[in-house]
Amino acid sequence: MTRHLLSIDDLSVEQIQEIFETAAEMHDVQRREVKKLPALRGRTVINMFFEDSTRTRSSFEIAGKWLSADVINISAKGSSASKGESLRDTVLTVCAMGVDGLVIRHPASGAAQQVSEWVDAVVVNAGDGMHEHPTQALLDAYTLERRLGSLEGRQVAIVGDLTHSRVFRSGVKCLTKLGAEVTVVAPPTLMPSGIDEWSRTAGFEVNYDLDEVLPKADAVMMLRVQKERMSGGYFPSPREYTVGYGLTRERLAQLKPDAPICHPGPMNRGLEIAADAADAAQSAVLEQVSAGVAIRMSVLYHLLAGEETP
Ligand code: ASP
Repeated sequence: MTRHLLSIDDLSVEQIQEIFETAAEMHDVQRREVKKLPALRGRTVINMFFEDSTRTRSSFEIAGKWLSADVINISAKGSSASKGESLRDTVLTVCAMGVDGLVIRHPASGAAQQVSEWVDAVVVNAGDGMHEHPTQALLDAYTLERRLGSLEGRQVAIVGDLTHSRVFRSGVKCLTKLGAEVTVVAPPTLMPSGIDEWSRTAGFEVNYDLDEVLPKADAVMMLRVQKERMSGGYFPSPREYTVGYGLTRERLAQLKPDAPICHPGPMNRGLEIAADAADAAQSAVLEQVSAGVAIRMSVLYHLLAGEETP
């Protein structure tokens, strides 16, 4: 297994399948009354979050605790980072306490990679700016594999604010590695520059017409419109975005009835996804959340269980 998990590029197809197999076993732990395994007893994991998070942070925390690790949470607000301490000083300070695993979320792309060069601890990227969010991609692909059997040859549409989305960047890599045929859909203003060349080399399709893509999709992943990362006007009005690119009630009817609908959360209901779609029987949104814990248990287990304490 890789030493750190910074990007989906760190994992081979076999390693992804290995993570999925362990996650399936961890999923069974979730159903037990006593949800504890001793695998990481004596290990310390720090969740260091310099950006807001509900699901990812609590999911990593639960995952670590169910594996019996000691888990500590640090967020930018309330830490010395808010007093002007540099990222390097903060992580070196924390790691000097004898930390085995560092789960980091940071608004700067490349932050996790940089931190991995400074510390001895195992580093897991929990989202670095607009770059990558590998555990989200793993849990999305795992959720879809469980629903669809296999991803080989399956048509997966990734729709929405692609420019600002680390979920898309990790997701498209993971899904294509597993054999899915991915089509990405966004308004021209939210399509990342250089997408045509990237799609050619990476082997996915680009489309600007959601209504053309939806009826053929075996699964659809809606992405959040990331207003906090937008400095200008990317679309004339929320209404116009919804009309062109929202998974509305009308569009839900175009989807195959068994095609899972995914969203990494948090959802802007009524903007990129209608309540009817978010709550539809074919929605996989809550399955993604529960898979998130199993995947993160599996990742922490593979990266830390065999590690000698430095
Ligand atoms: N929760 C995901 C992330 O942290 C997706 C989102 O925020 O839209 O990237």
